[in-house]
Amino acid sequence: MDCIFCDIAEKISEAEIIFENEKFLAFLDINPVNYGHTLVIPKKHYDNFLTIPATELEELTRLTQYLSGAIKRALKADGFNVISNNGITAGQSVFHFHFHIIPRFENDFHMRPRTIEYNTSEIESYAEKIKESISKYEGLLNG
Ligand code: AMP
Ligand code: ZN
Repeated sequence: MDCIFCDIAEKISEAEIIFENEKFLAFLDINPVNYGHTLVIPKKHYDNFLTIPATELEELTRLTQYLSGAIKRALKADGFNVISNNGITAGQSVFHFHFHIIPRFENDFHMRPRTIEYNTSEIESYAEKIKESISKYEGLLNG
């Protein structure tokens, strides 16, 4: 499969690696939105947030939490964003699941370029649609 992150995990392509263990890898984004912008990936290929198995996601999330703290301390950042883009429309450009850790500094840039407004019936109808979909999967979450 042609995947740049698999190539980085297999050391076929180079990256500025900041952390590595048997299952996961973290490296600096080559097109960063801020200094220290980091990507955290499973070495195994999964397309996105919906297809990575729960146990690996849990470990990857815990690692992302740990690395976020380390990056924040190292760069004396004021905060950070943890982001996952899923699907072309959402801005995903590499289809190997990853978390972005983006260190943030006071007055650097606005993450939310726009907001929309609901009227009362709209917000209720969106909530209903989503709740109906959630209820179909309740069994899954409750084991
Ligand atoms: P996304 O657009 O959410 O799929 O994120 C993919 C990220 O990977 C982008 O921010 C790219 O700048 C970054 N990227 C693509 N190729 C490389 C590479 N070879 N090394 C490091 N980062 C990369
Ligand atoms: Zn891959």
